[in-house]
Amino acid sequence: MTKVDLFKRETIIKQLDSPEKWDIIIIGGGATGLGVALDSVVRGYKTLLLEQVDFAKGTSSRSTKLVHGGVRYLAQGDLGLVKEALYERGLMLKNAPHLVKNQSFIIPNYKWWGGMFYTIGLKIYDVLAGRLSLGKSIHINSKETASRLRTIKTHKLKGGVLYHDGQFDDSRLAVNIAQTCIEQGATLLNHFQVTQLTKDGEGIVNGVVGKDMETDKEYVLPAKVIINATGVFTDQVLKMDNKDAKNMVRPSQGIHLVLDKSFLPGKDAIMIPKTDDGRVLFLVPWHNRVLIGTTDTILDDHSLEPVALQKEIDFIIKTANNYLSKKVTRSDVLSIFAGLRPLAAPKDDSEKTKEISRSHKIIVSKSDLITITGGKWTTYRRMAQDTIDKVIRIGKLPKKECATQHLPIHGSLNIQHGEDHLYVYGTDRNAILELAVNSPDLGKKLHPKLEFIGAEVVWATRYEMARTVEDVLARRVRALFLDAKVSIEMAPIVAEIMALELNKDLTWQKKQIEDYNALAMHYVLQNKPNTTPEKRKLINL
Ligand SMILES: Cc1cc2nc3c(=O)[nH]c(=O)nc-3n(C[C@H](O)[C@H](O)[C@H](O)COP(=O)(O)OP(=O)(O)OC[C@H]3O[C@@H](n4cnc5c(N)ncnc54)[C@H](O)[C@@H]3O)c2cc1C
Repeated sequence: MTKVDLFKRETIIKQLDSPEKWDIIIIGGGATGLGVALDSVVRGYKTLLLEQVDFAKGTSSRSTKLVHGGVRYLAQGDLGLVKEALYERGLMLKNAPHLVKNQSFIIPNYKWWGGMFYTIGLKIYDVLAGRLSLGKSIHINSKETASRLRTIKTHKLKGGVLYHDGQFDDSRLAVNIAQTCIEQGATLLNHFQVTQLTKDGEGIVNGVVGKDMETDKEYVLPAKVIINATGVFTDQVLKMDNKDAKNMVRPSQGIHLVLDKSFLPGKDAIMIPKTDDGRVLFLVPWHNRVLIGTTDTILDDHSLEPVALQKEIDFIIKTANNYLSKKVTRSDVLSIFAGLRPLAAPKDDSEKTKEISRSHKIIVSKSDLITITGGKWTTYRRMAQDTIDKVIRIGKLPKKECATQHLPIHGSLNIQHGEDHLYVYGTDRNAILELAVNSPDLGKKLHPKLEFIGAEVVWATRYEMARTVEDVLARRVRALFLDAKVSIEMAPIVAEIMALELNKDLTWQKKQIEDYNALAMHYVLQNKPNTTPEKRKLINL
């Protein structure tokens, strides 16, 4: 099969006609589902993954982009969780070095005890990372702190603590994991929703009904094992299984603002361990911009496009301004995005968000439906390993060993980050440059204000399974997250290039542009705050 065929939707859809039962069907193409698909196919099981919109459309494209053990969980004394995540951080850096990098963080201290307190804490972090440590944590004086963080407020600054963690591009990693799965022999489809579970006479799940969202055609797909990896949609799938199922997941929203690099011009990120209301806030350099987040707001509802609350926006701007000498205003915000953590539901309403477990949970329903939820991006590989081990332990599939620990992810290459923006493609970078050389128009920028070129759109459509303008602008190139207004201006040219690749007409292009504009407006922060009361029920703000 040629490379184009391998990732072509028509070729992949034909695989659904296979008379052989699937060993495993995974519902959901975020970090969790993709990790499970990879673990499964590499062990040799016949694997199918269905994602209703696009890979990483949900929470997995809306993270803080940290590959971390979680300094915050260290403070809560959850050493096991931190150690496991630090080990996985090391593996991610080895297996996908084109997307994951070593990032230095500085905790600025304004209290006399801060330096000592955080240096000791981070020394423990270093010890827990063991051989996979990314560099020693050290105390630095106020002069060095101010020279490394040129926009930090220096009044009463006592010094800083320098430590290292990982940083990555979340949705690009998701796409590369999807490609790895396919190259290993799995079948993966985006824009393909699971609408029902099927059961045998004893009430055991034995397949799904999947709907191609582009054609509305439905497929009945039999399987030995069904995995529910749908993040904040977990309860919807549990209710397909049993309409009286108890809710397992409580969404907790986190938002981020994206600013111009001038707000944090150096290479170091800032970690604020305790904001006014006891949260952790990060200011992180990312693709030549600065990402600030996040919040932790328990909600009662969920959606594919969660919206930042006024209080959350105010909190982030206010906290950033407590630390930065360059004042942040609403008009400085280039993009704003919200994501939902699929936290395990508390036993009762008295349990607070910070107390709800952040570790992952695997649940086997009476029908043998297996649900994996919680955890974090950093631990996606371990979560997958535990899920498939569970499938084997309950006797659903013959035993085979996990083989993902040292498996390179598609594109894996030790490449200098940031030399040009194409480094994120790793081993694919040269092929994209070649496209641009062969068709000089594709070498041109899509917009003067952003670095992305036409060849990336062709590449995303041919080899990365992008089907819509949003798939390209949000999750293949990150224009929506880097500068929402500019990305709206890019939509027509992206639609035109995609239409040529996918053989679509002008009506398709027009609809794509309209849909994209409507969506991208949610990522643009209006200069004036929204004064209409927020309808959603909030707990614990
Ligand atoms: C604000 C925020 C910041 C975070 N920062 C970090 C960080 O810096 N580092 C880190 O390690 N972790 C971080 N996390 C955690 C991490 O992002 C999540 O744990 C992870 O992305 C969850 O992945 P998931 O696959 O479980 O869920 P999702 O990514 O939401 O994926 C679930 C998928 O299931 C699909 N789906 C739902 N129903 C169906 C259906 N019926 N049929 C087919 N598909 C369906 C959805 O479309 C969705 O794409 C953060 C989380 C949040 C909210």
